[in-house]
Amino acid sequence: MKRILVTNDDGVLSQGLTALAQALSRLGTVTIVAPTREASAIGHALTLHHPVRFDRISENVYALDGTPTDCVNIGIATILGGLPDLVASGINKGLNLGDDVTYSGTVAGAMEGALLGVPSLAVSLERTKAPYEFADAAEAAARVAGAILDRGLPARTFLNVNVPGGKPKGFRVTVQARRNHVTTVSALQDPRGRPYYWIGEAEDSYYPHDRSDYQAVQDGFVSVTPLQPDLTAHDALKLVEEMRFSSDGDRE
Ligand code: MN
Repeated sequence: MKRILVTNDDGVLSQGLTALAQALSRLGTVTIVAPTREASAIGHALTLHHPVRFDRISENVYALDGTPTDCVNIGIATILGGLPDLVASGINKGLNLGDDVTYSGTVAGAMEGALLGVPSLAVSLERTKAPYEFADAAEAAARVAGAILDRGLPARTFLNVNVPGGKPKGFRVTVQARRNHVTTVSALQDPRGRPYYWIGEAEDSYYPHDRSDYQAVQDGFVSVTPLQPDLTAHDALKLVEEMRFSSDGDRE
């Protein structure tokens, strides 16, 4: 029986988490280790400066007072006591596309799995006006997870899956979109007259690209993007080498 570790960033009570765990249970034994409280937009944060605790809240479900990255680490080191066959993170309430993936706790959960040597995926569902309906996203996640268990993934690679609202038309393998970054910050005043600020979510504006994750979801397809933790800008290596930071005498 395959062992599957499921986490998320919306918290252990999220219906998206339950839907994902349920869909994956046909592929193996699922253990949920998820944050006690919502930890969205927490990125790849790892808790190092205070203790982390977890509670077993039901059979194979653990609530941990930390980040998704904490959940994957403690899930593997302590709760499972070894590497699972798959780490799955989600189903997030809201897409994680393009440049936004670095903010995402959902994506970071899968990235941590990949860094620890486990084939991993993150799954996110488009926000719509209607209440979230996770069934199609859970089905899509199970299909992708089944393929990963079947074929494996290259080392340090994980899949970022984004599901459109409504019935998906199929799957598209995509690249990350580039967001046209415009952040809105609202300046307000608290009841004591001190200013405070509220960072707004950026507008959904992306540079057009036929192959992008954003375009796939716009067109009604499930987007599947292979990602890796290595952010090295290979095209910039030559330029940076030519910068000559050290004085001539120290140069090798
Ligand atoms: Mn979230």
